[in-house]
Amino acid sequence: MLTCRDVSEKTNDYLDGTLGFWPRANLRMHLLLCKHCRAFVGQMQATIRFIDRHGYTLMPEELPSKPLVEAFRQRAAAGDRPRPPE
Ligand SMILES: [Zn+2]
Repeated sequence: MLTCRDVSEKTNDYLDGTLGFWPRANLRMHLLLCKHCRAFVGQMQATIRFIDRHGYTLMPEELPSKPLVEAFRQRAAAGDRPRPPE
């Protein structure tokens, strides 16, 4: 079973379609069970679609994936759960 960290590290390859059969199957299995990773991968996918649709070309250092991955890791490390607004 993949950890959330594994998923965040493989998300780019997963969305690029460059993951092999078993890594992809394992990742999808994790996504079925983990709503945090589903949200993360969904966000990445939406970002990539947005860029595709609008024809933006970002420099690698401007790609949103890194801050997203970092934010996700920090939340996962803190055991964060969505909270109701105060
Ligand atoms: Zn997860």
